[in-house]
Amino acid sequence: MKMLVCGGAGFIGSNFVRRALAAGHEVINLDKLTYAGNPDNLRAVEDHPRYRFLHGDICDRETVLRAADGVEAIVNFAAETHVDRSIVDPEAFLRTDVLGTYTLLEAVRALGISRMVQVSTDEVYGSVSEGSCTEDAPYAPSSPYAAAKAAGDLQVLAYFRTYALPVMITRGSNTYGPHQYPEKLIPLFITNALEGEPLPLYGDGLNVRDWLHVDDHCAGIELVLAHGEPGQVYNIGGGNERTNLEITRIILDELGLGEGCIRWVADRPGHDRRYSLDCSRLRAMGWQPQVDFETGLRETVRWYHDNDWWWKKIKHESEAFVAWKRRWYEERA
Ligand code: NAD
Repeated sequence: MKMLVCGGAGFIGSNFVRRALAAGHEVINLDKLTYAGNPDNLRAVEDHPRYRFLHGDICDRETVLRAADGVEAIVNFAAETHVDRSIVDPEAFLRTDVLGTYTLLEAVRALGISRMVQVSTDEVYGSVSEGSCTEDAPYAPSSPYAAAKAAGDLQVLAYFRTYALPVMITRGSNTYGPHQYPEKLIPLFITNALEGEPLPLYGDGLNVRDWLHVDDHCAGIELVLAHGEPGQVYNIGGGNERTNLEITRIILDELGLGEGCIRWVADRPGHDRRYSLDCSRLRAMGWQPQVDFETGLRETVRWYHDNDWWWKKIKHESEAFVAWKRRWYEERA
């Protein structure tokens, strides 16, 4: 299949691109290369005969129409994704996560593209005090990031109802694995620990996330792309609910460090306490997570340990990272 992947230079998108090429697909990757987009993530495939990179913005109609011309499917990973950044500066989130999604939907409509998967998040359901959310749970986003993703989802569902477009949504849970930008909890903590810096843990450390390995997340998206029903939403969760403190302890243990490395910091405003997904719909289609959580997390720690060429460039040379880190620590001093 010839597909347009948007945001394929980021963490999950680059994993998906590598897998799609390995599975025999032809991939056009449209990415704006924001601070989070990283060509190093695709070094292994940049000269692949079935791969083409296009530098561009999903909000730009002409660019999208050109990129999508002749493709059978679009898979959209492109988004602003960091909750903390959305609290400081929400505008870019509204642009890409809402207007960008709309621009892709318009391209599906104009070009008659056969399938589109919008990659969304469990954060649209907000904090879940008890039980797990099915796909019909109401939207209750807490952060500007989650609200922008929810608005993107609503556009997708509206385009299905109004124009009968062949569009589907996946809602993944917190994802981890190699190549994740080191501002996110797991890679931030691993790389801080590797450099002897404190691990800044929010609040009481007891916020719960359902962790999903990036390979399992991409396998779920692939299944929805191949067999999902238009207009349908599919939860993808790892079934690994852990507190941030439990995650921190595994990372420290893998590196032979003690809890003295933790620095407790004031909680994030509007911090959701718990996310939890009911994934029966996708499981009924044959998907189930393959990666054991603790094994996957320990392997991820070792990947960052063995690939400091990948993250040291970002942490020490990227202006976007250095400025964000300075601001983040100043606000919590
Ligand atoms: P990421 O921040 O690592 O990568 C985002 C990519 O999108 C980057 O390559 C960036 O350059 C690109 N991009 C941003 N704005 C763009 C624009 N206007 N036009 C074209 N490209 C643009 O993100 P990620 O963690 O890989 O997440 C990918 C998707 O999965 C997002 O939609 C996110 O909401 C969703 N998701 C992520 C997680 C997670 O835990 N990381 C969990 C569930 C869902």
